Amino acid sequence: MGAFPFPDRIASREELSRDLLYRKISREDWEKISDRAWDTGVKAAKDLLQQNNGKSIEQIALDEGLVVEHKDVDNVAGNVRYFSEYYSGPKKIILYDASIKKWSKANSLTVKEANELILSHEIYHHLECTKLGLTSKQYTVPTIQIGKFKIGKSGIRALSEIAAHGFSRTFYEECGLMPDSKGNKKDAILQNHKEHDTDIQAEH
Ligand SMILES: [Zn+2]
Repeated sequence: MGAFPFPDRIASREELSRDLLYRKISREDWEKISDRAWDTGVKAAKDLLQQNNGKSIEQIALDEGLVVEHKDVDNVAGNVRYFSEYYSGPKKIILYDASIKKWSKANSLTVKEANELILSHEIYHHLECTKLGLTSKQYTVPTIQIGKFKIGKSGIRALSEIAAHGFSRTFYEECGLMPDSKGNKKDAILQNHKEHDTDIQAEH
């Protein structure tokens, strides 16, 4: 493996600037809410590893009741290449093999490493949908504001991404799989995947 392809705790804070609602987040809260989400992911990884000592990420997915489906597709829609999709209802993760192969090459990863990394990321989303509660709800902003009236509230999706980064990184650190190379590719962020968890969101 070359440099670890997901951002670290500090670089993850940038995810907030990509959130559709980022303008509604108080600037003074950025660091605090980002680090809290990161720590949530770190703890989830440590807890999961403690319960599943020595198991592969694929085995953990199976034990969680997840269906992992591989499609040999380079899933490009418009200008975006999708690597994976998670469906909370049917507990299913789809990995797009041809897309992942390209991503692995671009990041000097083996295909196996790339698969495991993307799978671990999606497993975090599964855990937050089923056990942990959605990390996005750790911080909410008003949906509509008219004068002094604030109506409705919405979570921040980027917080779920930050937690998933913390989860994947910790999982790899704790398993002793982290590469020796110095530094991180701060621009190599896994953005292009989809989570279909609206059914879960409606319950919260
Ligand atoms: Zn994600």
